[in-house]
Amino acid sequence: MLDIQSMISAKRITCIKKLLEDYSSPWKTILDKLLLPVGGRFVLHCNFHTSKLKINLPAYYKECFDARPELNGKTPSCYKEIINEIIRNNKFLCHDKKSIYRRDLVNLGFMKIRDLISANNSFSYDTSSLINPEQRFFLMSIINSIPTEWRSLIKASIEITIADPIPSVPTIQMASGNVAPMLDLTPKQIYQTFKQQKQIAPTAKQKLSNKYSSIEIEWEKVYTLAFPCTLNTKIREFQYKILNCILFTNEKLNSVGVVESPNCTFSREAKGSVEHLLFFCKITTTVFGNTSCPG
Ligand SMILES: [Zn+2]
Repeated sequence: MLDIQSMISAKRITCIKKLLEDYSSPWKTILDKLLLPVGGRFVLHCNFHTSKLKINLPAYYKECFDARPELNGKTPSCYKEIINEIIRNNKFLCHDKKSIYRRDLVNLGFMKIRDLISANNSFSYDTSSLINPEQRFFLMSIINSIPTEWRSLIKASIEITIADPIPSVPTIQMASGNVAPMLDLTPKQIYQTFKQQKQIAPTAKQKLSNKYSSIEIEWEKVYTLAFPCTLNTKIREFQYKILNCILFTNEKLNSVGVVESPNCTFSREAKGSVEHLLFFCKITTTVFGNTSCPG
């Protein structure tokens, strides 16, 4: 089913992708100029939000830029993710409610949070490269702006790793968890990524997986089977109820005290479960046995 919001978001990301593509255009020149105070296109590598950037973008570009954090703007939750956070333009590291961007500190080698911590995971950075007290003071304010949970996680970590290199092209995190360069993705893949983000597995899926743990279930086929099988909305609804465990057979109705007997209404010889009604009941299977589905 088409998801309009995902389609709109994908269009916005496609616009950002066009900015990165290797051709010039007047709109790119204007946008590049607007992005200059926050480091130009490099901002697309950062964990930013336009409301925190110290620039004013036209409304349309704002929407385009803010569509990307929907895919990449997750809150870092583990040591490795935190140390890999880029300091500049980071929406979590704010000074006077705005993200931080200082070209001089980047030139001095302070790019990621990893650059602010020493080998034993304490916040003691190499000050030899700093040229003036104002820069030291600014670095201290960056450290103070690091969320408390992040600082606690870093200090408590026994893991010590170096930060990952920054890729040459901004990336997008796919629904599968894989990270792909933005330029390599087609609009359709971007749309699918947005759409898959919204998809939540029904709670009954786990229930059915546990019940039929010995069977390899092709879930995609299970959930889509009703569509090639029938146009009849009643039958589709029937299948939906079965898949979501909300088909109230006698077994279920008896468990909540609505009917006296849990046995099958038709044969009365066994519990009226969904399985009994569909596969084992001598009365109903004569009906279901005469129907067939494609696939
Ligand atoms: Zn029966």
